[in-house]
Amino acid sequence: MEHARSGQEPEFLIISSIHPSAQDLQMLGMLQGDASHSTRVTGHPILHSSEYLFLFSGPAAYNSHFPRHAGVIIAFDENEPQSIINESLYNIAEHPSIDGIPILAFLVNYEDGIIHSIEHDYLRDASLEESLYQRVVVPLPIDPSCLILLCSDSRVQPPVFPEGMPLAIQTLGAHIPRYDKNHGECTQFDAFFKEWFSICSPKQILIIKHGGFVVECPHCSAAEASINANAISERFLSEVISAITSDASRFEDELRDDPKDGALALAKATEANIRSYPAIEVARRNGIDLDELIFIIAMDTLTGRILEIG
Ligand SMILES: [Zn+2]
Repeated sequence: MEHARSGQEPEFLIISSIHPSAQDLQMLGMLQGDASHSTRVTGHPILHSSEYLFLFSGPAAYNSHFPRHAGVIIAFDENEPQSIINESLYNIAEHPSIDGIPILAFLVNYEDGIIHSIEHDYLRDASLEESLYQRVVVPLPIDPSCLILLCSDSRVQPPVFPEGMPLAIQTLGAHIPRYDKNHGECTQFDAFFKEWFSICSPKQILIIKHGGFVVECPHCSAAEASINANAISERFLSEVISAITSDASRFEDELRDDPKDGALALAKATEANIRSYPAIEVARRNGIDLDELIFIIAMDTLTGRILEIG
């Protein structure tokens, strides 16, 4: 794992909801390497760590191994109910990897780029909140027809397209689990997909694997870690990497030793998992061609250059 973590030293863990995920980074002036990423499903609370394994628990555990921990940042839309804020903050603070790290919670008006601190009873850092205010800029608008899945790695950030900022799910290895009706984050994902298909079309889902493709760059840490999944002792990280390894192994003929092959197998596993969601199946039955909906693309870790690989 030490090798997999080399080359990045993020100061923050940022938790963004899917719709304004890319906007959060831009609004707060977060540059490449500043923040690891995790995700909250828009309009839903962060659940207990055991129920939010891929979206939050795994990325938080992974981030805890870096040396600097200035704060955990979470942004809520200004119209979100207080109950969602309260439940989310409670569950963030409960995660063992967050112990002793300030939680910087903000209410945001994305249209005007206005943010306000949220008062809470967990550890805060008022001067750091103030310094983040100084960085705020009005973010570009989003393009709700494009959803990207991208790694939590601080070195990769959502690409900005001419149509606007894509919606983004950022998890370790850009992986989402196979649908399980008994698992909270899966039912939230399904609710998200259901709502997403109801609002606009055509749509596109881009699964972005990262590594050294166009130029020599560090590989995806999650893909590298999955090569030695048995060596991970931390509970949540171990559960996520084991699941990733198991899923990716379905798309490989032999035990791999090349992280680039691992990243591709991982992306294929994520694509298969997306297809397992009931809302995606309903969309398919309603005439959406999944082969025209979901694409795997590659991004160089350091340059952000992307290329389509079909
Ligand atoms: Zn990665």
